[in-house]
Amino acid sequence: MTAILEIKDLVTNFYTYEGVVKALNKISLDIEKGVTFGLVGESGCGKSVAVRSIMRIIQAPGVVESGQVIFHSNGDSTDLLKLSEESMRDLRGNQISMIFQEPNSALNPILSIGEQVSESFLFHQKKDMCAKVLANLNSSGCKTFVPWKHYLRFIYQMAAKNDRAFILKLLSRIPFFKWDRRAKKEALNRSIDIMEKLHVPDAENVARNSYPHNLSGGLKQRIVIAIALACNPELLISDEATSNLDVTIQAQILELFKELKKEIISSIILITHDLGIVAETCERVGVMYAGNLCEVADVEMIFNNPKHPYTKVLLDSVPKISQEGKLLSIEGNVPNLVTPPPGCRFHPRCRDAMDICSRELPATIEIEKGHLVACHLYLNK
Ligand code: SF4
Repeated sequence: MTAILEIKDLVTNFYTYEGVVKALNKISLDIEKGVTFGLVGESGCGKSVAVRSIMRIIQAPGVVESGQVIFHSNGDSTDLLKLSEESMRDLRGNQISMIFQEPNSALNPILSIGEQVSESFLFHQKKDMCAKVLANLNSSGCKTFVPWKHYLRFIYQMAAKNDRAFILKLLSRIPFFKWDRRAKKEALNRSIDIMEKLHVPDAENVARNSYPHNLSGGLKQRIVIAIALACNPELLISDEATSNLDVTIQAQILELFKELKKEIISSIILITHDLGIVAETCERVGVMYAGNLCEVADVEMIFNNPKHPYTKVLLDSVPKISQEGKLLSIEGNVPNLVTPPPGCRFHPRCRDAMDICSRELPATIEIEKGHLVACHLYLNK
């Protein structure tokens, strides 16, 4: 299977007053086209830092220090870490979209739902719009359009600088094209289509007349998903997008992801600490611990035949219906990433630790087709 995203040796640090937090320690990972990839691990293991590093939305004092994030799209391969900020802004929400955990902080309370879903579409269509107008003007040969041609060329250049509000203002001043109104109408219709696909009841009314405070938590999360899907992204990243929802809404949203993957999006990265969600939704799984990727495999391999000691204890600690007595937990604490343990970062809590584990970081090896493990237990065989 071909990869849509290749992450190679990604390192992200946070420069805090207490010291340098080594949040991502040379993560390497492939996300294949058409696959839902689950990224799991305890809180603070680096799942969100990994996807935020991919999207280049790590905020200070965080720094993506090194590595490569190669995005494959339409036959082109682009290292996202080398893209200009302007090109990256064009790509975000357009080819790669992200859904965040908290819909309340993702939605603007004073804009209608329709405006918010349309915004992403309008933002990414601005260059196309200007290019189309310019092409029309060039081919029309109409003399009265000549002064507007220069005006539009200027707008097109502004579009490249990404000042959306200013561009829409400029476009709205063109009397004979009425681009602002036409574009907004087109974007609103498209927003309603997407919301209907997401089973938002009475989508047209919600788009035109509702504001975030009018909607329930589940509906707000669907709107956030609609915003993420507005431009048919090739890769959707969901960062604990269903964690705050009750289980019935969560199940509906996860079912939606499955439908959307068939119809709209190509691949999904699903960040969660809920292994039940992974088993239900994902085809591939990556297990993270303290900024390292321990194991990557197909979902059946992870659940039926886990190899890494951390994956094993993580699965053992999931409560089972038949279980009696005390719940199992992983002994010890998550390490402080300012001073992470040397060698394998899991060694102070690992039941199988050997001498070498506290000295050397284990390399990742493929122990069977598609099953990658970073552990000395398998390296020395
Ligand atoms: Fe345990 Fe060593 Fe494997 Fe780390 S490398 S998980 S400490 S056995």
